[in-house]
Amino acid sequence: MSQTLEDIIARAEREHRLGKAEVAALLSCEGEPVQRLFDAADRVRRAFMGDDVHLRGIIEFSNYCERACHYCGLRRPNAGLPRYRLDVDEIVAIAGAAVPLGYRTVVLQSGEDAYYTQDLMATLIARLKGELGVAVTLSVGERSFEEYRCWKEAGADRYLLKHETADPRLYATLHPDMKYSDRRRCLDHLRELGYQVGSGCMIGLPGQTAVTLADDLLFLKELDVEMAGIGPFIPNPNTPLSKAECGAVEMTLKVIAIARLLMPQVHLPATTALGSIDCKGRQKALNAGANVVMPNITPNKYRRMYEIYPNKICLDDDPAHCRNCIGGIIQSLDRTVADGAGHSPKIPFSHLAG
Ligand code: SF4
Repeated sequence: MSQTLEDIIARAEREHRLGKAEVAALLSCEGEPVQRLFDAADRVRRAFMGDDVHLRGIIEFSNYCERACHYCGLRRPNAGLPRYRLDVDEIVAIAGAAVPLGYRTVVLQSGEDAYYTQDLMATLIARLKGELGVAVTLSVGERSFEEYRCWKEAGADRYLLKHETADPRLYATLHPDMKYSDRRRCLDHLRELGYQVGSGCMIGLPGQTAVTLADDLLFLKELDVEMAGIGPFIPNPNTPLSKAECGAVEMTLKVIAIARLLMPQVHLPATTALGSIDCKGRQKALNAGANVVMPNITPNKYRRMYEIYPNKICLDDDPAHCRNCIGGIIQSLDRTVADGAGHSPKIPFSHLAG
């Protein structure tokens, strides 16, 4: 069996293609082949993406959400969560303070909050591009084609919309007020509009199997994403999944490693969620194919309220401290902090504005 796994790993490293059964076999492997999988992913990462690690500063600008996803603490029915919204001036000021720390990308993240209208978001994006020249990634959920188009024209570069799971039945059980087909349509719209598209999934969702996860990976490859966010499911006590088990570190790392083998040029974050369940989680991910870190640059007074999952790391650290800490982690792995915007290497320079 280990010879067979070795063959699969070698072919994935060479050809960057695998069938579903092969992906599922890698996801199920244990013991010594696991390290070989991580090593192969690390080689592919170095060959295609170099030793640079890209920093993306996340601004969690609103924790209001109209949805009721079963795994998420921001869900509308969670009445015990104090809610907040930041205005445009405040968000621009936060991003402005991050630029001298070396951030060249800001990620605007929120629940699905209609308070931020098409025009308000367009104003915000235009100010971030015009005043700071940073790359702008949006992560604000499902919106109309027209809104996505307007924000792209305002200067947005990238959009993160995780598909969460490529199993439509599992998707339906987790998202009582959402449709898998809507998710897919939004991702198609983002692709059509020329965004650098990010999607991704959670590892360890109740009801998930190795075959489901293989579908997730093949879905990401088929969509040809520029970014893939892969992190563990962490149960939140204020959600219907409060009693579910946490996703496993090793399985999360395996999914990241296979993503790197299948998509050599994808940007892959070492997620904060992984760092929250394993104090070395981000380092392990950076050694298993990841090349991005997304530190939180939201002011401390809001961070505790953005509680998608509990026990998130770095809640009391200010952005300058986080930047130093992350820089130290990256250096300790003999890697370098990237100094450019970190656009996808798949996108020709002529298509990029900032
Ligand atoms: S996962 Fe996103 S859409 Fe779902 S409840 Fe949480 S913030 Fe809202």
